[in-house]
Amino acid sequence: MARDTDEAGTGPIRSIVVLGGGTAGWAAASMLARALPGTGIELTVVESPEIGTVGVGEATIPPILDLLRFLGIDEADFCRHTQATYKLGIRFTDWRRPGHRYWHPFGTFGAPINRRPFFHAWQRAVASGGSPAFTDFSLAARLAQANAFRPSGAPGSESAGLRYALHFDAGLVARYLAAYAERLGVRRVAATVRGATRAADGRIEALVLADGTRVGADLYLDCSGFRGFLIEQTLGTGYLDWRRWLPCDRAVALPTAVVRPRPPYTESSARPAGWRWCIPLRHRTGNGYVYSSAHVSDEAALADLLGELPVAPEAEPRVLRFTAGRRRLAWQHNVVAVGLASGFLEPLESTSIHLALSSVYHLLEHFPDRSLAPGNIAAYNAAIAEEIERIRDFIILHYCLTERDDTPFWRDCRAMELPASLAERLELYRETGRIRPRAGELFTDLSWFYIFEGMGVRPRQHDPLIDVVPVPQFAEILRRLAAETAEAARGARPHDEYFDAAPRPAEAVR
Ligand SMILES: Cc1cc2nc3c(=O)[nH]c(=O)nc-3n(C[C@H](O)[C@H](O)[C@H](O)COP(=O)(O)OP(=O)(O)OC[C@H]3O[C@@H](n4cnc5c(N)ncnc54)[C@H](O)[C@@H]3O)c2cc1C
Repeated sequence: MARDTDEAGTGPIRSIVVLGGGTAGWAAASMLARALPGTGIELTVVESPEIGTVGVGEATIPPILDLLRFLGIDEADFCRHTQATYKLGIRFTDWRRPGHRYWHPFGTFGAPINRRPFFHAWQRAVASGGSPAFTDFSLAARLAQANAFRPSGAPGSESAGLRYALHFDAGLVARYLAAYAERLGVRRVAATVRGATRAADGRIEALVLADGTRVGADLYLDCSGFRGFLIEQTLGTGYLDWRRWLPCDRAVALPTAVVRPRPPYTESSARPAGWRWCIPLRHRTGNGYVYSSAHVSDEAALADLLGELPVAPEAEPRVLRFTAGRRRLAWQHNVVAVGLASGFLEPLESTSIHLALSSVYHLLEHFPDRSLAPGNIAAYNAAIAEEIERIRDFIILHYCLTERDDTPFWRDCRAMELPASLAERLELYRETGRIRPRAGELFTDLSWFYIFEGMGVRPRQHDPLIDVVPVPQFAEILRRLAAETAEAARGARPHDEYFDAAPRPAEAVR
């Protein structure tokens, strides 16, 4: 039982309450339960039986597998229970211009030449009139294009550099993690929180439940979703609104039946006022249109989505509203916001669940005692702000480089004034072909390269150290790398074969 209200004091944290039982809340509770064994810290999750979860959130990035390793969860078991399929990257359709496609695949791309990342070699090949193919050097792109999949190979093998992520049913993930956390001793309270009491120094003393019961703790994780019940509604932390760069503020989501073959990638197609996702799961396909309400009405967005569906919808459409941005402070007093409560970037690069997990990893690195040292909180807030702002820039990049001018939305995207951090990066790439990611940045230079290249940005020059390699040797290296990629692809099977023998949905759900 979490303790009743208590003075702040000093000494170790004795209890943590997680407010919210969505993906973020249960992931956070699982991670804390796993990371803090034997500390005697009481962990409680309070989740409302009345307030639903967002429920979407189907695409992830490769660090999701690190979570499973961290929790000691068997990947195959997790995938079976969450209806997961594999994701080798994202295919972007119509973003640069209608009819154009490009890949953002996971994993390695070629191999360094003269200690330079391979994308400089690509730039050299292109500058000298060649037309190399991504699929010759990215195993993930090659497999994705063929609707095939294989697990990563052992270190040193040709497929060792393959990385993948998962598409899953976020509702089932929350249930799976809830069962996991409860097995590790996390207490679940099914109740709606109506208010919170505060100490004179501003900290939260206790949550007040609908029946008047108080649940107190030394530390609170606000995982209450967009509303930010503690961080915003109670503490009034404030929100940085990024709609001037990311104008999409709504989504309409609709599941349909499985369409075979299930592609091992997320499809992202540009639409007149935003973009559409298509995500294959074992038991259904997730579809949605992320759009700017300033450029299209809800009715027109739904009509657009329905018009693109290959099969009839299986449920009523759900409209979700959001504002791109972040809380001014992710951690204030004894409240740490995690998940949607901390901010939101549209799901274009599937970063939201990752950011929730990353918040918890950062919290473990900055784990406080009851004195809640202000310097420690400031360091945490700076790390979180830096991480989400670099991801924000990466997402803006997909829009601002478009050649489309067929609708007011795309014309506005082309005309937007960029954040200085992004403008500098773009200029450096245009001048030198170099990308300088900062320490700890989620998206590597390779990911940035894929978007620059896919959107048609060609640098004025490439790294001169790549030119040191003589032409015949350079051609031979490229030939060998392409042969290795082709060889590694031979070990793949059709993606669907990984699931067709899997249990049916009713058996799979716990
Ligand atoms: C359109 C859309 C598409 C998305 N797609 C992706 C994607 O592909 N990949 C990805 O990584 N992320 C995606 N996301 C984000 C992803 O859905 C969320 O990051 C994830 O589900 C975590 O949500 P959450 O747990 O923070 O909030 P929620 O799911 O909203 O959960 C909030 C919880 O708080 C509880 N709660 C709230 N108020 C109270 C109260 N007063 N008392 C008690 N309990 C309360 C609720 O009952 C609920 O349990 C998407 C989001 C949207 C909007």
